[in-house]
This record gives sequence, C-alpha cells and structure tokens, in this order.
Amino acid sequence: MIHLPIFMDIKGRLVLVVGGGEFAARKVEMILKAEGRVRLVADILCPALQDLADREAVEHHARAFDAADLDGCLLAFVATDDGELSKQVSTLAIEAAIPVNVVDRLELCTFIMPAIVNRSPVMVAVSTGGEAPILSRVVKAQLETFLPTGLGRLADFAGACRDRVKAAIPDGSLRLRFWENFIHGPIAEYVLAGQPDAAGNLLDETLDKAIDEQGVEPHGEVYLVGSGPGDPDLLTFRALRLMQQADVVLHDRLVPDDILDLVRRDAERVFVGKRRGDHAMRQEEIGQLMIRLAKEGKRVLRLKSGDPFVFGRGGEEIDALSSEGIHFQVVPGVTAANGCASYAGIPLTHRDHAQSCIFVTGHAKDDNLNLDWEQLIRPSQTLVVYMGLYSLPMLCEKLISHGADANTPAAVVDNGTRKNQQVITAPLGELAEAVAKAELPGPAVVIVGSVVTLRERLSWFKPGLV
Ligand code: SAH
Repeated sequence: MIHLPIFMDIKGRLVLVVGGGEFAARKVEMILKAEGRVRLVADILCPALQDLADREAVEHHARAFDAADLDGCLLAFVATDDGELSKQVSTLAIEAAIPVNVVDRLELCTFIMPAIVNRSPVMVAVSTGGEAPILSRVVKAQLETFLPTGLGRLADFAGACRDRVKAAIPDGSLRLRFWENFIHGPIAEYVLAGQPDAAGNLLDETLDKAIDEQGVEPHGEVYLVGSGPGDPDLLTFRALRLMQQADVVLHDRLVPDDILDLVRRDAERVFVGKRRGDHAMRQEEIGQLMIRLAKEGKRVLRLKSGDPFVFGRGGEEIDALSSEGIHFQVVPGVTAANGCASYAGIPLTHRDHAQSCIFVTGHAKDDNLNLDWEQLIRPSQTLVVYMGLYSLPMLCEKLISHGADANTPAAVVDNGTRKNQQVITAPLGELAEAVAKAELPGPAVVIVGSVVTLRERLSWFKPGLV
C-alpha cells in the first residue's frame, strides 16, 4: 500500500490553510464540512473565501506565512503557486510532525486527499496514490452512479434501530441474516425511496414476527421497472440498482439484450411475451407469477420497455399485489415518445409549433381503430401514436378523412434510441406508402405535427456510430 487510508475526526480542531485561491477554497469547504476550524493565511482571497472571512467562518490572516501559524494545528494544507513557500510550509510542518498536503506537489505531501463519494455517514474515498488524479475522478463518477443517493439515510436508519434489532433477535447468526435481508429487501427500499414511515412500520412488523417465531424469513418484493426505449444509457440509476439486486427478472420482447445484460448475472430470467396477438403469458398470469415468486421471498424485477405506466399495462400487472400484501415499487422510465422524439431531433412541443402533445395507442381491435379523431387533429398539437405501425395506413386515412391536412408533416421513428434507429418523414398523406417501402421492423412510433419539420435542423443522433 502506498498510503494508509484513514478517516480523521477533526471536529473543533484547528487546520492551517495557506493560499487564497479556488483550490484553497475547496480545501476550506471540506474542512468546514467536517466541522474543523480553519486558520487561513493569504494576502488575497477569492470571492468564496472572502465571503467566509467576512462572515468570520474562518480565522483569516492577510499577511505572509509565519512559522508560528502552524502552532496548535492538527493538519496543514498549502494551495499556492509559490513554489518556495510551498516547500517552506511543508518542511516546517514535517519538522513539527503535522501532516501536510500541498496541492499538485506530491513530493511535498505527507498525506493526500482522495476523491470522495459522499453519502454521509457513508463515505467512499478513492485514491490512486497520487499517480493519476483523473483516474480517481473517473472511478468516483462510476461509484456516484452506482451508490444510491439515499445510502446515508439508510445508514442512519440502520444505526437508529440497531439496539432494537439486537434485543429482538439475540442470536448472532440470525441477526446477521436479518441485516442481510434488511439491506437487500423492502425495508431498505422504503428508506432509499424516502418513505421512512413505511420502513418503520415494516421494521416493527418484522421484529414482532422475529420475537414470536425466533426467525426472520426474507420478505419478497416486486419492482416494476421501466427500462426506457432501448439505449441502456437511458436507464435511471434506480432501475440499474434494482436490476443488479433482483433474484428473478420477468421481461418481454421489447427489452433489448444489452439492457438485459445489465441484470445481475445469476438472476433467473423468465420471458413472458409478447408480440402482436401472441402473448406468451396473459397479464393476470404474469401478476400471479409475480405473487408466487415474491411469496417465496424473491426480489422480483418486472422489466418493461419505456415507462411501465404508459401503454405498458403495468397497472394491471401489479393490481393484485397490494391485496396480497406484497411490497412493490414502480420505477418510471423514458417512454418511447420522449426517447424517439429526442433521438430523432423532433421536439414534442415548441412555442412556434405545438403547445400540447397527445399520446395515443394505434393498436387496432378487430381491425378497427376506435379513437377520438376530432381530438387528435386539433391545431398546435403534436400527436404521438404508439403501436401504430401495423395500422398506419388506416390511421393516416382516418386522420385525413376527419379533417387533418394531407400535407401535415409526419414521421415514423423505428427502433428509436437504438443502434438501428430509422426515421422516415413524409407528409401525412404519403407516410403509409413511404413506410411500407422501407419495410421497418418495429417497434415504431408515429409523430404527426409541424414539429417534425424541425428535424431538418435538430437531428443529431447518428445511429450507425453507437
Ligand atoms: N411502455 C412503453 C410502451 C409499450 S407499448 C413506453 O412507455 O414506451 C409498445 C409500443 O411502444 C411499440 O409498439 C412502439 O410504438 C413503442 N416503442 C417502444 N419502444 C420503442 C422504440 N425503441 N422505438 C420506437 N417505438 C417504440
């Protein structure tokens, strides 16, 4: 090991900072966050430091550094361009056995500052031994995306109930199991989702049960998660986290492999359908399966394309869960309309074109489309049709026969946000023919309205390049 990693309690202790620029300001900010006191020695201060000095949040000396400045200090930081001064402070600090850090001068440091991911009280520090600070920052950024923002709350919650858990489950190994279930189960999920009351209630229930039965069976739960339209980068942090802790995943055809690859490797995978008219499993059956798996104590991930509550029948699938007392949460995703519009360079609303936007399904029942056509052809409105590829000729024809101008700009975005995205634009009256010629594989959304003309200038996504 190049350095000894330690976390130091500096509450109320004096820390010397020499230098008045932005770098010094960052150190001062950290020291104050850790509730240390700052002795700041610098002639000139940047605005942030000046503000702190004005508010007397730091002890400021507007003069040159003096050896006596180190007196009584626990640590010393140097952040100045003056090489001689840096060397002098470092030498004196080392002589006085005060740990010293000099910005960008590794050879003058006796300690270095890590890149940190702060989920206080949980704190992750990353160091490359001072060799590659940029690499530390990259690792930090990856950890930032991976660690839930509510992790600190979780640590606080666990800390607050530690004694109660110990009293309720005296057996050490059973208690260990409790904590494992806690961290990976619904109590922690409630805390992370900002619902401490629900977490508290469930904790009470679990501990009562543990006292009665001297056991702690894991609670199963269901995560109904939107995976977005296809580009894995469009997953939410929460979706990714739940994907990595699920025991079993139920997915359908619209969720692409590169998203499924992000699900925990040893999670069981169940394909539940569905293609037009060919449902591998009916909606109620999916619901029943989720209930059975959750009752076995499994963490069940129901992964749906786009957003689960937009034409996803997500509501129907989880309908039975609450009456069975199964804990669940719903994680929104980028819905196809949003993803396709952004990646095709077509704003859904625009001051000069559309003040409203309407999403409808073009799924035909008995080869007929029952839609409120008058509502769909209103001016200054963008229309987005999901599941409309198959019924496109009928859709365009009905829009026009109900009064839409055959020249209204329109587009079909196929496999939006994905490597094989294709966009066909044509006036409404010619769209069906153009699309038929292109033999699009689907899934696709139809976008109708004058916003489509903006694509000429706003198109940015080059599918072949990803
Ligand atoms: N819940 C999903 C919609 C499911 S319905 C969501 O919020 O996006 C299925 C329809 O979504 C498809 O028929 C198609 O119209 C649309 N769709 C889903 N992914 C798409 C994609 N990558 N590109 C274009 N359309 C897509």
